[in-house]
Amino acid sequence: MTLHSSTYKPEQLDVHFSEAQLQARIQEMAAEINAAYPNCEKLIIIAVLKGSFMFLADLVRHIKIPCQIEFVRLASYGDGQTSSGTVQAVDLSLPSLTNEDVLIVEDIIDTGLTLNFFMDYLTSLHHTRSLKLAVLLDKKEARQKDVRVDFSGFPVGNQFLVGYGLDFAGYYRNLPFIGVVQ
Ligand code: 5GP
Ligand code: MG
Repeated sequence: MTLHSSTYKPEQLDVHFSEAQLQARIQEMAAEINAAYPNCEKLIIIAVLKGSFMFLADLVRHIKIPCQIEFVRLASYGDGQTSSGTVQAVDLSLPSLTNEDVLIVEDIIDTGLTLNFFMDYLTSLHHTRSLKLAVLLDKKEARQKDVRVDFSGFPVGNQFLVGYGLDFAGYYRNLPFIGVVQ
């Protein structure tokens, strides 16, 4: 489906998770993460761009562990509503992660191809002390590759979601809620 840019209007979405629901769950997730790293002196958080930027920004405000924030950029959807099946590594530059506690932050896990690729990449190059994964949304039914999710915000069905970082052809990332295109 191709839409003209003037049709990408927030009023054409059904709200799936409101701003209040997202913020409440993200605070709980941050509490789970804080509790999972007792006495941790440094956590390296790696966010997968572009979709995770809003989730990351809200999540880290509630993280009490001293942390460094890094970014990688991976792409798999192109302009469509389904995964292309190939993961494009747009930017994988990272500092040394040797003996570090590393938390990956991702907006949504769908087929699992993106995170399976990235976890394999990290574990083949870096000997981290620990490696965990936090995702805001988990589309379990769509999974093709097994990936261990340590912190999960909401389970979701097999539908195409937009807003709060998630795009459709580049649009809707700015919305404070998550919606479904009608
Ligand atoms: P996977 O590799 O697990 O199939 O997909 C991961 C990536 O696909 C996510 O980081 C996200 O960019 C994109 N994606 C998966 N499901 C959705 C969705 O419902 N809406 C949007 N906008 N992107 C999605
Ligand atoms: Mg993503």
